[in-house]
Amino acid sequence: MPRFLASLRYRFFLALGTTLLMALAALALIAKLLVLPALLKDERLYASQELDRIQRAIDNELGHLSLLNKDWAVWDDSYAFLRGRYPDYPSSNLTNGQLFDDANLRLVVFLDTAYRPYRVAGIDPDTGDYTICTAPTGACRWAAPLVASMQRHVARERAHTRHTWLHAWPTLSMVSAWPVLKSDGSGPPAGWLAMARGMNATWLVRLKASTGIAFTATPASDAADADPPLLVRRSDDDMLATRRLAASPAGHAIQLQATLPRDAFQTSLGTFRFALYWTLALVVLVVLVVLLLLEMIVLRPLRQLARLTDRVRFEEDTRVPAPLTRRQDEIGRLAQAFNHLLAFQRRRTHSLVQLSQHDPLTGLANRRLFDRRLARALDEARHEARPVAMLMIDIDHFKAYNDHYGHPAGDVCLKRVAQAMQASLAAPGYLLARTGGEEFSVLMPDTGPAAAREQAETVRAAVEALGIEHGTAPQGDVVTISVGLAVSTRLDTPTPGALGAAADAALYTAKKAGRNRIAAGPVPA
Ligand code: GH3
Ligand code: MG
Ligand code: MG
Repeated sequence: MPRFLASLRYRFFLALGTTLLMALAALALIAKLLVLPALLKDERLYASQELDRIQRAIDNELGHLSLLNKDWAVWDDSYAFLRGRYPDYPSSNLTNGQLFDDANLRLVVFLDTAYRPYRVAGIDPDTGDYTICTAPTGACRWAAPLVASMQRHVARERAHTRHTWLHAWPTLSMVSAWPVLKSDGSGPPAGWLAMARGMNATWLVRLKASTGIAFTATPASDAADADPPLLVRRSDDDMLATRRLAASPAGHAIQLQATLPRDAFQTSLGTFRFALYWTLALVVLVVLVVLLLLEMIVLRPLRQLARLTDRVRFEEDTRVPAPLTRRQDEIGRLAQAFNHLLAFQRRRTHSLVQLSQHDPLTGLANRRLFDRRLARALDEARHEARPVAMLMIDIDHFKAYNDHYGHPAGDVCLKRVAQAMQASLAAPGYLLARTGGEEFSVLMPDTGPAAAREQAETVRAAVEALGIEHGTAPQGDVVTISVGLAVSTRLDTPTPGALGAAADAALYTAKKAGRNRIAAGPVPA
């Protein structure tokens, strides 16, 4: 595991950061897989509805043309003309200006009952000239494709009374055909009347105005033109919607192409983006707040505790701060437990130290503590050029006491002697220790020979003054002690061993001289 991951803070940062990234990725996926396709689908539907509207407008136009066509087809004059009874009909009715200009027609064709052209009248789209012929030949040659389309349609669908269709080639037209009947609608038909209206620029302007949609209508041939895509989004602002309408002759079509605005899509997208950005901002905010709360409620106190555990090793009086232990939650309980553990551990350590440095019978310092204090005192004395004095004390004829009064009484005697000596110490810095069975030592830092001898005498007298009966003692009838005294000079501080040896030698001298007395050793070098 990398080092920085060892910290809870960074692990939380990492976990929440990862969660945040995953939330962002999920939002991006939702946008890409759900929202955007739905918006695009709506846009396709809108485009298709707009094309439907154009188509309905064209159907309307076809309807109007059909009505006009019918008016003329059930007119008695038309009937008479086809029956050959009204030769002047074309000159009085099929003239340029009236029918063609006013009704915006391009071509009027009469077919006989065998669907052969009877009269063809119209305006050549190339020259703008009005022509009228008995067949689509010669001057009326331009009308041949349209006339053939009319013949085919009428022949194929003669059972119907109304026919309208679109014609794509060579120019775009709307066509209508009706059987020519008597004005009361009775048959049989004398032939057919077909009319064609050009889908030219004027027509386009009118349809654009009525639908409000900018579009074009162009001829298309299945053979020459590949099927165009239904919807091309050209920019953020507009798109091109295309639809092909079946038209004559076979294999041809009319291609409608509408340029549509993408406002609705852009507005929806804008709204969605707005919602998305706010969601993102909220998610980020929530994560930051969670991190902050985590930092304040959990991580910071935990760090305090962790730092504390480091300090405990070096500072003896370290305690968990009150704000942590006052908390009622898990961290508070942890802090309290830590404090209790710390106190317990300190008590334990303290009692172990006491045990290891004190004598259980008398409660005095033991040899280990005495030796350590002696070494320290001599060190300090060496640095500060001060004297150090030491007493070595031994109870006189204690073996005999034990033999006579018994070991338990010997123990009691040892305790009483120890207490009396402790009570007789003149300075709080003096240390009395039990350094052997019935041997004791006194360490007197910063004490010269005179004060040391005075203290030795006080100790000796205190023991004697106890008056513990010792019937078998040759030197008297109470328990006494002999004391060996050694003092280091200011100029020359000895080693602990040398000072001890000097005191020991002095003690030997005191014993030799008759006990219950003090002897001073030579100043140790
Ligand atoms: P001297 O005057 O030369 O010191 O004679 P002594 O009998 O005191 O010296 P010795 O060293 O021969 O005897 C010491 C005795 O102290 C031996 C032992 O029975 C006794 N003693 C040592 N430690 C204890 C103790 O803890 N309890 C008791 N009751 N007696 C102890
Ligand atoms: Mg002894
Ligand atoms: Mg003794």
